Amino acid sequence: MEGGQGSLKIAGPTIERTNFMEKTGNDTVKLALDEVKPLAEEALKRAGCNDENASAVAECIYQAERHGAHSHGLFRMPGYLASLNSGKVNGKASPKVSVSRPSVLSVDGDGGYAPLAHQHLAKPLADLAKQQGVAIGALTNTFHFAALWQEVELLAHEGVAAIACTAFKPALPPAGGTKPLYGTNPVAFAWPREGAEPMVFDQASAVMARGEVMIAAREGHTLPEGVGIGPDGNPTTDPNEILKGALLPFGGYKGASIALMVELLAGAMIGEQMSFEAAATDNNDGGPPRGGEFILAIAPGGAGPFNAAEQLFEQILTQDGTRLPGDGRRQKRASVAAAGVEIPNALYEKIAAI
Ligand code: NDP
Repeated sequence: MEGGQGSLKIAGPTIERTNFMEKTGNDTVKLALDEVKPLAEEALKRAGCNDENASAVAECIYQAERHGAHSHGLFRMPGYLASLNSGKVNGKASPKVSVSRPSVLSVDGDGGYAPLAHQHLAKPLADLAKQQGVAIGALTNTFHFAALWQEVELLAHEGVAAIACTAFKPALPPAGGTKPLYGTNPVAFAWPREGAEPMVFDQASAVMARGEVMIAAREGHTLPEGVGIGPDGNPTTDPNEILKGALLPFGGYKGASIALMVELLAGAMIGEQMSFEAAATDNNDGGPPRGGEFILAIAPGGAGPFNAAEQLFEQILTQDGTRLPGDGRRQKRASVAAAGVEIPNALYEKIAAI
């Protein structure tokens, strides 16, 4: 094993490292959790992001790693960097929030990554929901490459319940079909809790998120049956074949209908591209396509609904084997902080090369 304290040369100037970067001898590199954000932020700046955009995206990557969501952590950096390098994504985006209808805040993402738009939107959207009972955030001209729990959790911390969804590029067939048409189209929901972290679930419309299938392909292991089909339309457990074919929606036609709803809300309803349209305009540089996001914030008139919910949560937790959604990922924080973040050498070198 080699590595330890010291400095690491990254294409020119030396970046001083205050904590460890360890080669594990297993074709992987181990970073201290604290190293994740500075590494990502520096690379994003060198690829053309200004400070604000680099910080927002790097924070999002750090939060994913901190919660053990590796498929949305540093793993995404080559895609983020590729889309900055190709000029598809504006690293100096300045998202603009405006009231387009009395209950609708429209956000023009200025062609940038979504996390900065989320930061600009959260407080005004929560405030509008508190005034009106409900408010919609309609994000357009943006590039979403992250896990959605982060934006709904931001809203729950502002005291409102929230639902968010976004489309991508075709990965799932419609019910009865075999050719990709819908994105893996995640839906996230957050519910604020007095004195506790919000209840948050965030799930793809697919049996498994595409990032997880990509990681399985990279690591060379098979997937359970039912995750996807090959290009011939037949079931397969080979992640490479699934990436060439299609992932399957969870729950058959039920998941397909959720994916369809996401296309309509995050695409057609707010005037952005649906997944099939995004596929036609994207330059396939490895980053996300331009798309939209639909966010609904709901504020009750008082604390009654939140108090009532606590009784349900209590009932859930009286059953052995249960936990609230969101708590599983939070339970990973301590072990990730202690163990650090292990990524493949090749990935580390791609990030450091910039
Ligand atoms: P998972 O199947 O891993 O988890 C889905 C949800 O179920 C989580 O909120 C999880 O909570 C909860 N959950 C899991 N097990 C239990 C349990 N035993 N009891 C209660 N709740 C439980 O997520 P997916 O693979 O479907 O999605 C992964 C990520 O990919 C999401 O964050 C999604 O936003 C992202 N994604 C992003 C896309 C984009 O275009 N930007 C496209 C597709 C997906 P917990 O976290 O606490 O385990």
